[in-house]
Amino acid sequence: MLGSTYICYWKEHPPMTYTPERVAVFTPHPDDAEIGTGGTIAKWIKAGAEVTIVCCTNGDKGSGDPKMTSAKLAAIRRKEQMAAAKVLGVKKVVFLPFRDGEIESTMATRGAFVRAIRRARPDIVMTTDPTRRTGYQHHDHRVTGQVAMDACFPYARDHLFFPEHKKLGLKPHKTRFIYFWATEEPDTWIDVAETLEMKIEALKRHASQISAQREVEFSQRMREMAKRSGEKKGYEAAEAFRVIEMRM
Ligand SMILES: [Zn+2]
Repeated sequence: MLGSTYICYWKEHPPMTYTPERVAVFTPHPDDAEIGTGGTIAKWIKAGAEVTIVCCTNGDKGSGDPKMTSAKLAAIRRKEQMAAAKVLGVKKVVFLPFRDGEIESTMATRGAFVRAIRRARPDIVMTTDPTRRTGYQHHDHRVTGQVAMDACFPYARDHLFFPEHKKLGLKPHKTRFIYFWATEEPDTWIDVAETLEMKIEALKRHASQISAQREVEFSQRMREMAKRSGEKKGYEAAEAFRVIEMRM
């Protein structure tokens, strides 16, 4: 491959205190972004960052209710995602046209991700870690993480990929960092003590996924997760990430 970009871990100075100007968050389903990085999103927005949530599938299978239909669920989850984004202060939410369980790593999918990146022009892309090896992982999580990474490099960077974007006024874009949540190998912890409750409030907007009965238990689980993540760095509450720096 031509070009000077290469991918490596940021070993010496993990970007734990870096505040980006623009962030694009690729969430496999409505609610994954809030669970993985809701506190960090709210924190960066408070510090002046512009965050775009890219909802990669419509979540139209995520219900145990036998009376629920996919069409109804997709509409509900879209509204829930908008409401959750509002709580965090996110102004832009992009919905990609993929259905729950049906997203694949194809050129068309990469094209949709690249378009979102070239539009949002993020310093940081956030997504779920596609490389988890222990335990199960949802197909859409694997694919979303993989495609988001591929979209950053090389597809969004090189103008000869998806040249049709030029007609939309979009230029090639180099993303500086990728932050993976739900990772087995965290190397970066963001202090979210001040925004943890915003994260939990945002998550409550996903009522189709977290019923009112489970709200208390779920909120507690989020607090414990943040506490555990924070312990390593002496933070009261943290979100943990594996970070890749794209050298440009
Ligand atoms: Zn999910």
